[in-house]
Amino acid sequence: MPNSKCMRCGSGLIADGALYGPGRMALRPEGARFLAMEMGHVMTKATMCRECGFVEITGDVQKLRRLTTHAEPESE
Ligand SMILES: [Zn+2]
Repeated sequence: MPNSKCMRCGSGLIADGALYGPGRMALRPEGARFLAMEMGHVMTKATMCRECGFVEITGDVQKLRRLTTHAEPESE
C-alpha cells in the first residue's frame, strides 16, 4: 500500500484490519452479474487511524470490475 494517511487528521499512524459483523463486511454491487465460481460481492478491508480513530473502508477494485464489466462503458 502506498503511504496511507488519515483523511481526517493527516496522521501516518494507520492500522490495517477488517470490519466484522456476523461475518466480514462486504459490498454487494448493484446489478452485479453472477460468476459461476465467485460470490457476487466485493470484500472490504479497513484502516483505522491510531491518533483520532477515523476508520476508512476500501473495497477490492479488481473484484468490482469483474462483477460489473457489463455495466461499464466501452473504452473508446
Ligand atoms: Zn486521524
